[in-house]
Amino acid sequence: MNDRGGANGPVGSWCGSQGAAQDGDVANCEETIHRLYFFLDGELTEDRRSAISKHLDHCGDCLDAVDFEAELRRVIADRCRDRVPEQLRDRIATALRNEQEQRA
Ligand SMILES: [Zn+2]
Repeated sequence: MNDRGGANGPVGSWCGSQGAAQDGDVANCEETIHRLYFFLDGELTEDRRSAISKHLDHCGDCLDAVDFEAELRRVIADRCRDRVPEQLRDRIATALRNEQEQRA
């Protein structure tokens, strides 16, 4: 007879110890690039933000990517804020759509 088939055996070493690097305090390149937009938008939890910040401290590649994206946004935001109000952008988008429909 064998009565050791239950769930009470001494298992459990498989849960938690492997592949858990993402839960640490330093993010990897993949995660950093993946969450770049959320990072810049401030839409991450404090934990993730600091994990990514720490990664950027020692990874020039990701830092470049974040810098570039941040700079790009700054320029776009700067130019758009004064000159292209939301309403105007809507009208342009509508006009373009109308034109496309007329051509079709
Ligand atoms: Zn990296």
